[in-house]
Parts: sequence; structure tokens; C-alpha cells
Amino acid sequence: MTPKPNRRRESDRIDPISGLANRSQFLAALDDETFRARRTGCDLALILCDVARFKAANDGLGPLLGDRLLGRLGGRLRSVAPDAALLARISGDGFGVLLRDADRTPAICAALEDAFSRPFMIGGQVVALSVHIGVARLAAHAQDGPSLLHAADIALHEAQRVGGGMVTEFEDAMRVAAAERHDLETDLRQAVVVDEYDMQKAYACAQFFLAHQPKHCLRSGALTGFEALLRWRHPTRGPVSPAAFIPIAEDAGLIDLLGAWALRVACRDAAAWPQGDGPPLKVAVNMSPLQLRRGPLALRAVADALEESGLAPERLEIEVTESALVDDAVDLLTAIRDLGVGLALDDFGTGYSSLSRLSRFPFTTLKIDKAFVDALRPDDPESDWMIRAIVGLGAGLSMTTVVEGVEEDWRRARLAQAGCDEMQGYLASRPLERDAAAAYALTHVPKTPALEVAAE
Ligand code: C2E
Ligand code: MG
Ligand code: MG
Repeated sequence: MTPKPNRRRESDRIDPISGLANRSQFLAALDDETFRARRTGCDLALILCDVARFKAANDGLGPLLGDRLLGRLGGRLRSVAPDAALLARISGDGFGVLLRDADRTPAICAALEDAFSRPFMIGGQVVALSVHIGVARLAAHAQDGPSLLHAADIALHEAQRVGGGMVTEFEDAMRVAAAERHDLETDLRQAVVVDEYDMQKAYACAQFFLAHQPKHCLRSGALTGFEALLRWRHPTRGPVSPAAFIPIAEDAGLIDLLGAWALRVACRDAAAWPQGDGPPLKVAVNMSPLQLRRGPLALRAVADALEESGLAPERLEIEVTESALVDDAVDLLTAIRDLGVGLALDDFGTGYSSLSRLSRFPFTTLKIDKAFVDALRPDDPESDWMIRAIVGLGAGLSMTTVVEGVEEDWRRARLAQAGCDEMQGYLASRPLERDAAAAYALTHVPKTPALEVAAE
């Protein structure tokens, strides 16, 4: 059966910006090609490419130059794909390649990676991009056009989730994980709908709450504050880890609401903690990289939380994870710092901050990742060399160093010896619900003996 001649006008089939086929043309051709390949017993490979950092580049270049960049991406795609391949721009920064010669997939993927990650010169500016690639093959993974697209899409999501620029080929286990993720997202949306009114009012919610984990000074042992950690108590699944649901909340567009609520509740909880003789207890709140990208909205959320709770700005600290730190967050973080709020670089050592990059951000605290704490060996005095190096770096940049995930007393002693300022971990306490945290604060807040006598 020969496919029906395509009578649609060229403008209905071609994406004018990239010069490639558009999405609807690609989907129609995908149906035809998979149908034909099935009949003749041939294989096909579908390669989906998502340009990483395109949005940031587009925002920087402006719409006209952004379109020119897409045109250049289309040109590079054409230059590496075989003539017989079907090429299309299928979303804002997503491209599809349908390969008839499926055995050439690894070579074509390698060429695509190279083509997309060579810098572009656009309007006098150098633009560096990278690409995520997901692949599925008709013979192994699908029956028809839609199922091939679905499998390649799942592989692409996996490539984006894992990061690191690896080409990812579809595997059945990914379908199970994607279905589980989808179920969790549906539940999360429902939970947020149930709690939306309470969240907007910063009331206590049915399914979400904060747990506060104490931080202590390593020299004196004094309590210095808490980190506020978001919790989701699912009615049937039980507690769901933030490591599992926060990425989903980000994808589902729910993180602004959840994040702003966490900020307001954390500040309000902190405002009620007792005051001892030392510096007032601080509260640290995590901010997702997606919230950071919202610029003024994130700044507003911080300012509102402070105003509503009456918490002094210097008692609040915002934690930003190192692995997701983007250069365009400098302005926002500087504006937050200008409010008087502290800034912590979380999970330090897991990303790739250079010294010059670090010094451009106004961080006040370095949180040393648990991996460095775990690397300490009781019988090896040299095993703390990385911690010492980070402490030196922190001191040079006038930052407080906090170590995370301290579970044993001998590690605490070694970390104190290495010069770390503060510690957080199960050794002192697990994260505590609001009332338990307030009670912990009451018993641990630094008091001079004279005052304790006076209070009796
Ligand atoms: P994080 O900010 O690095 O938080 C520290 C994590 O280490 C917490 O896990 C904490 O419970 C855990 N932890 C603390 N001490 C120990 C210890 O001694 N041993 C071990 N094994 N673990 C310890 P949690 O609460 O599951 O949070 C995971 C991550 O989720 C956080 O990592 C943070 O990146 C994110 N997160 C939590 N709450 C929020 C939030 O409100 N907003 C955003 N955007 N992210 C959040
Ligand atoms: Mg944190
Ligand atoms: Mg951390």
C-alpha cells in the first residue's frame, strides 16, 4: 500500500523556524513508516533529542536570535542525519529523528551529541548547549507509531532525570517506573487540591507538614537552629520521601505553591522558638532550582514569609543545592541576601562549582555533603583531607561550614577536629515534627547557668 500523497500545503507540514518537518507531519509520517516497516519486517529507530539549557539561552538572546539558534540547530541536525531519515522539530526545543537504518543508531546519536554541543555563534554571542537523547526501536519496544513515540519519550525522560548527557535507550523497567511516577504525580496533584486552600492561607495541611532537624555548633555543642524539611504523609502509601516527590512537584508545576507554603510555615514555626542567651535560633529552608528560576516570585515568597511571621531576616537561611545551581540565579540570590537572609550552598561537593563561580554567589554557608562524612575512616587519620580542604575554602570565603548526615560520635569528633563549624545528623536528632522541635529547642537552647538559676 503506497501512502496517500500528502496534499497539505508546505506551510502546514514544515516548521518555518527550523526548516524541518513539524510535529503533525512527523506524527503522520511515523504512522505510515511504522505500518510499512511492520509489514516488511524491517526495524526503525526513533531518536528524540531535547536541547538542555535552551530556555536560558533563548531568554538571554531574545526571541529573534532564539529563533535563529533553532534554525542553526535544525541545520546541524540535517548535517549529521542520513538523507533517508525523517527529521522534525516536535516541540519548542525538542527534535525527532526517525531512522530507517536502525543499526546506525549509536553512530547517529554520537554525531547528534557532538553537533548539539559544539558552541554556536549567534548575534556575536557564544552559546553553549547540550542535549538529552532518548531512543526506542520498533522491533524491540513498540508495535506502532504511537507506542514507538511513547517508548522514546519515556527513554528521553529517563535521560533528563539521570542527567550527565548519556544517550538512553528504552527498557521495559522504565515503563514501570514511568507508570509509578505518573501515579505518584496524580496523587500529588490530588493532595495539593485537597490542601490548596490551607496552603494558600499557610494553615496546617492534611497531608503535608514540615519536620525540623536540629543543627549544633561543633565547638560548644550549642543548638544553632534547624533545617525545615518538607514531608508528605500519603493516606495509603504512608510517608513519601521529598527526594521522591519534589522532582515530581517540579514537573507538575506544584513546587511554587509547596515551596512558598514551606517557607511561610517554617518562618512562623521559627518565630515561636524560645530565645536563649546565645544568638537567636535560625531556620533553613530548601529552595528548588525551579523556584529559583521564577526570580521575582521567589523573592516575593521569601519577603512575604518574613513579613507575615515577623521573623528577623538574619534568622532565615535559604538552602540551594549545588548540583542544580545555575549562573542566572546570581541576581535573585543577591536580592535575597540583600534582605538580610542567609544563603547556604547545599550538598556541597556533589556539583562542580569552581572557585571563581563560588565567589560570584553571595553564599554565607557551605553545607558539606554526607558523602564526605561517610568517607572518613576510623583507622585512617588522612581520610579527612577533603573535609579539611572544604573547611579551608569556606574560611577563605568567610562562610560557615555545616556538615550533614553525622550519625556516629567518632565522626563528630573528627569533624570538630577538622575545623567544621556546625553539624546536623541523626547523632543529634532526626527531623522532628513541629511540637517536638519546639520542645527540643526549649531543652537545648543555650542558657548561661546564672539565667537557669534565675529562671527556677
Ligand atoms: P537536604 O536538604 O540535603 O536534606 C538533608 C537530608 O538528609 C534530609 O532528607 C535528612 O532527613 C537527611 N539526613 C539528615 N541527617 C541524616 C543522617 O544522619 N543520616 C542520613 N542517612 N540522612 C540524614 P530528606 O528530609 O529526605 O530530604 C531529602 C532532600 O529533599 C533534601 O536534601 C532537600 O534537597 C529536599 N527537600 C526537603 N525539603 C524540601 C523543601 O521544603 N523544598 C525543597 N525544594 N526541597 C526539599
Ligand atoms: Mg538542605
Ligand atoms: Mg543537603
